Amino acid sequence: MTSSAADPQLAARLDEVLGRIDDAATGAGRDPQEITLLLATKTRTPAQISQVIELLSERGRRIAVGENRAQEIAKHADPLLAENGVPRHFIGRLQTNKARDVVAFAELIHSVDRDDIADALARRAELAELRRDVLIQVNTSGEESKGGYAPSADEIAPVVERLRGGAWLRPVGLMTIGANTSDETAVRASLRSLRELRDEVRERLGAEELTELSMGMSGDLEIAVQEGATIVRVGSAIFGPRE
Ligand SMILES: *Cc1c(COP(=O)(O)O)cnc(C)c1O
Repeated sequence: MTSSAADPQLAARLDEVLGRIDDAATGAGRDPQEITLLLATKTRTPAQISQVIELLSERGRRIAVGENRAQEIAKHADPLLAENGVPRHFIGRLQTNKARDVVAFAELIHSVDRDDIADALARRAELAELRRDVLIQVNTSGEESKGGYAPSADEIAPVVERLRGGAWLRPVGLMTIGANTSDETAVRASLRSLRELRDEVRERLGAEELTELSMGMSGDLEIAVQEGATIVRVGSAIFGPRE
């Protein structure tokens, strides 16, 4: 894909998202460059993904590509990603029988939401001799449709210790999907609770490596940045509405 084929709307939407991140960060006294923009690629074509990556590398931003489905991994294995050194992450619901595929391609796995998933990933990482970073997914909104551990340090600290017990996976932070509501107070409360939880677990275990907070999507990225997100995961605000 060459930039001559670039969709001008895509560039406009991307710049709008970057502006939103920059304004939120600056307003919160943060450096926008320390925030990774993860492209949530589900349902998008390799051509669309390549265009956005090209535009982002021109703009010198810290980026990652996030896949939801193990089945889309091969499809999105565009040489452009490797060429531009774009890290690939996994953000979707994990199944133990997909652990091998996910470990093979994802440098950072955002969605460790059950102990059997943590164990399956650890086993696969060891077999493949690949060291991988992981985030623990937390259900901060309590919505039943969402995966994740319960938002309490008593719940999360043992998971961090379980992950630290093996040699191949390294827990580096927490991930959440914010409350699905237009009530900004509820959204902020769910995102803030992820940071507070991370702080509490980090202190309890002396786990300085828990640096990452993956939170914020198209609709709530400003709030997430204000509440300390280090990775925002954005799909529709850049690529357009999903069909
Ligand atoms: C799709 C998805 C996103 C991005 O959602 P948008 O609302 O399209 O920005 C973020 N995180 C996860 C886990 C997703 O599945």
